[in-house]
Amino acid sequence: MPRFETDAIRRQMERTQYREHSNPLFLTSSFVFEDAEQMRALFSGEAEGDIYSRYSNPNVNEFVEKVCAMEGAEDGFATASGMAAVWAGMAAFLHSGDHVLASRAVFGSTHQILTQIFPRWGITHTYVDPQDVEGWEAHIRPETRMIVLETPSNPGLVLVDLEKAGALARKHNLILLVDNCFATPYLQRPIAYGADLVMHSGTKFMDGQGRVLGGILVGRKELIEEVRFFCRHTGPSLSPFNAWVLSKGLETLAVRMEQHCRNALALAEWLEAHSQVQQVSYPFLPSHPQHELARRQMRRGGGLVTFEIAGGLEAGKRFMDALQMCSRSSNLGDVRTIVTHPASTTHSKLTEQERLAVGITPGLIRISVGLEHLEDIQADLDQALAAARDA
Ligand SMILES: *Cc1c(COP(=O)(O)O)cnc(C)c1O
Repeated sequence: MPRFETDAIRRQMERTQYREHSNPLFLTSSFVFEDAEQMRALFSGEAEGDIYSRYSNPNVNEFVEKVCAMEGAEDGFATASGMAAVWAGMAAFLHSGDHVLASRAVFGSTHQILTQIFPRWGITHTYVDPQDVEGWEAHIRPETRMIVLETPSNPGLVLVDLEKAGALARKHNLILLVDNCFATPYLQRPIAYGADLVMHSGTKFMDGQGRVLGGILVGRKELIEEVRFFCRHTGPSLSPFNAWVLSKGLETLAVRMEQHCRNALALAEWLEAHSQVQQVSYPFLPSHPQHELARRQMRRGGGLVTFEIAGGLEAGKRFMDALQMCSRSSNLGDVRTIVTHPASTTHSKLTEQERLAVGITPGLIRISVGLEHLEDIQADLDQALAAARDA
């Protein structure tokens, strides 16, 4: 079995008659059949092969196979965005009357699905404290069907103990869905702890260069079969072009993550020592309340750092306005360093109380640390912090 880095590069679809070195791109909506018998066999599922790109496509298959290998998953299905994967990962399994146990610290749009969309079909949820998995069991009901969690969470960088969550899901025969966007399979493999389904927004570190949207669900074969049925007929499939970009992106995932993590740790340490910074959160800082858990279940601390700027909301806005190099953007997992202010952007739809419950204070700044030279990132943040203070 080739190692992670090697497999990410060398796993590719069969070479075509043109003897290409890099991965070819199959921009085709459908595929042709030799004869009626082949057509029948493919449609019946007796034979394997591509029929129509809403179902499968060589570029999409290559991307899926790579992520399955990285996550240690049996099977997968790729979607047009990360949210399509979250949606399919829940909607494919839930029926009217079902209940979802969800970590309170989930992505903003996941929160919207749980609170605004699922109630239309009588699907309910209970939010639980991500840091207290022992306390979750008391909220499991006869109609509970899934556990949904994200670790580390956006943007609070709160962790969930995957081993405990996996054990709880097994004990109660619940489907455990883990959003592994922030860690990527290079840093954390939830299936090893008992996750049934792992979801990614390919848009983030998998692409890594801010070019395309995409998503994927990987996990147990029989569950992915249901996801495949759901997606085949509801249509959130990934486009071949985006799959091609994402598959190329994965070739450099390991080396990018190493550098993202190195820059992020150094920046977190530097921020922690800065007089205008009140609270820095980074899983691999000893000051992180779940530092030991982070060391246990993650290879490195990830590419995201958050901090609380002295002076709250107004200082936060001045800081954002003063940035010269770092991008004011809402994406993350890009080679470019991106700075966001969650309270006024990604989590603005939540109430103040809901924000505070997941650690989003008015002055919270999230940095997706890029691959620029560390000293250039530091210099930009330093001058912006000075500008925020001097005003
Ligand atoms: C971005 C993101 C998503 C959604 O992915 P899209 O590709 O934007 O649809 C879900 N979860 C987390 C943690 C994310 O960062």
